[in-house]
This record gives sequence, structure tokens and C-alpha cells, in this order.
Amino acid sequence: MTEVELRVKPIKNGTVIDHIAGGQALNVLKILGISGTTDATVSVVMNVESSKLGKKDIVKVEDRELKEEEVNRIALIAPDATINIIRDFLVIEKHLVDLPDLIIGVVRCQNPSCISNTEEPIESRMLVKTKNPVVLRCVYCEQPITDRIADYLI
Ligand SMILES: [Zn+2]
Repeated sequence: MTEVELRVKPIKNGTVIDHIAGGQALNVLKILGISGTTDATVSVVMNVESSKLGKKDIVKVEDRELKEEEVNRIALIAPDATINIIRDFLVIEKHLVDLPDLIIGVVRCQNPSCISNTEEPIESRMLVKTKNPVVLRCVYCEQPITDRIADYLI
């Protein structure tokens, strides 16, 4: 057994998100819409040693199989993340996150006068120009966003 397996108890059913860059687990939960009011059992392991990433975080959501479109949005801040769907302690599905071409309602535009930032804002829409590194561009005002994306999560 590796150190990681020892630290993180296996779950019976649910979703394991592995290979999240160290320190980003809470932003991953935010993107997934998992907050303090959720009734799902969620385990977060932060800053585990990883040969690939240096330090990594792991998120386990019990009794919930996250859909691909919900999970792919986390590639915004965790482009190396892997998703494992668990049923009866077995991994029945494993895939890498893959950022969609359009991100709706997840990242706020940096331009304060953009129509997505007005008093009655329309939902933010970001085109994904490149995936690694992540470069987004606002559909409405063409303002690019390239770094500190986590600071602009809605
Ligand atoms: Zn904009």
C-alpha cells in the first residue's frame, strides 16, 4: 500500500478527484458547488506528496457520481486532475478532466464595465482559447483572463 492509500480511506460509492494541484482542493469544491450546506460526505486531503505534481490534493465525494460536464470545469484550476467513479469499492470509470470550449457562469469577467458585471448582469460566458496554460476570453467584451482564475470564480 502506498502512503496515499493509507491516508485516504477507500469509499464504497462516489467520486474521487485525484491529482489536484496542492492547495486547490477548496477551489475545486467551490467550482463543483459543494459548500458547507451540502449533505454529501466529502473528504479533502491536502498537500500529499506526489511525484508528478510535488504536492497534490485529493477530494472524495461519497454517494454522488459527478457528471462529466460538472467535473470538466475544474480543469480551469486543476488541469491534471483525474476523476474516478467508484461503485462498491471498485473504480468503474477513470478519466482526465478536459476543459470544454465554453465556460458558462463559473468565472467572472475582469472588466468592471462588461455587461456580465452590471447591476442586472447576464450570465458570464468565457471562451477557452487554450487549455494549458488556461487562457479564457470573455464572449461579450473580449477581455482575456490568464492567471489567478481562482480569484474570479463566481
Ligand atoms: Zn467581459
